[in-house]
Amino acid sequence: MIEFLNLKSINEKYEKELFNAAKRVIESGWYILSKEVAEFETDFAKYCESDEAIGVCSGLGALGLIFDGYKQMGVLSPKDEVIVASNSYIASILSIVQNDLAPVLVEPDLKTYNLDPKKIEEKITPKTKAILAVHMYGQCADMSEINKIAEKYNLKVIEDAAQAHGATHRGKKSGSLADAAAFSFYPSKNLGAFGDAGCITTNDKELAKVVKTLRNYGSFEKNRNIYKGYNCRLDELQAAMLGVKLRYLDKINKKRELIAEKYLQNIDNPKITLPKVLPQNTHVWHLFVIRVKERKKLQKHLLKNSIQSSIHYPLAPHKQKALGELNSLDLPISEKIHKEVLSIPLYESLEDNETDLIIEALNGFIY
Ligand SMILES: *Cc1c(COP(=O)(O)O)cnc(C)c1O
Repeated sequence: MIEFLNLKSINEKYEKELFNAAKRVIESGWYILSKEVAEFETDFAKYCESDEAIGVCSGLGALGLIFDGYKQMGVLSPKDEVIVASNSYIASILSIVQNDLAPVLVEPDLKTYNLDPKKIEEKITPKTKAILAVHMYGQCADMSEINKIAEKYNLKVIEDAAQAHGATHRGKKSGSLADAAAFSFYPSKNLGAFGDAGCITTNDKELAKVVKTLRNYGSFEKNRNIYKGYNCRLDELQAAMLGVKLRYLDKINKKRELIAEKYLQNIDNPKITLPKVLPQNTHVWHLFVIRVKERKKLQKHLLKNSIQSSIHYPLAPHKQKALGELNSLDLPISEKIHKEVLSIPLYESLEDNETDLIIEALNGFIY
């Protein structure tokens, strides 16, 4: 069976260095907010070409702290509207509603699955204060166009870069393309931890200080709490192990890109729509997502050929029970995407003969 994802095979390449990093932390006797987190923050900021990086507990935590941080700074107020793509992962939308802000869902571009800049302006009202640009599946949203609109209406722009570590737009890295960015190091992401972890990047010194305070109970100075903060810290252990994998991230992304190129050149079936990369972007292929009308049949056909697949995501956020207030929205592009997308295996430890079999099976799908 070709598994959809095999984290063990991905991580065993770095086993020795990972064990050494873990040993170093265990022997240090200090497990929360110390030198491993500080070192990883320095390295990750540099990697993202950003001034500041703040390690946090998860991707959702990173997003939430950015929104709460802007509220503490007086930049955002309760009920302010935040524009976000309607096909994003639910975490993006939860981070908005959990901060008492109002998500305004805008349809994506069907070719890139990212926010369609042409559809943003018609949704802007006097209450609109920010745009959350999700870099879907590993490709940056059209940030130059989004930033132009934001400048015109004086909006903050936040990147949800949870799927796009190392992706670029017009030569600039994700994490440096807007006012602030949120990353997730959930184990399956391109830079994956060994549990939950996340990071915020920004060039805004004030925001950096506020989120650093919020992640640790609202306390910057021991026992002085200036905000109603959270426990949303990055662990020393995760930071040390992430530091090992960060050194290989470009290599990991390169391998993923080679597999994606092979798929793009060789998958040839009129029933299957392949993903598109904008010329101004480099894609890091967190997921290789195709579209097909008979999705169930294709999944069955792949399984018959011993190939697992997955769906990102089967149900649109505005159709989820948890977001009942959005259930009546009519978002046909998003609904089409959620009905037709299928993710096929793409990860750095896939072998050549496995990708050959995947291509063969997809090209042999007829119904
Ligand atoms: C994974 C992901 C998140 C959430 O990250 P967690 O670390 O699981 O909290 C947010 N947004 C997007 C687009 C994601 O893919």
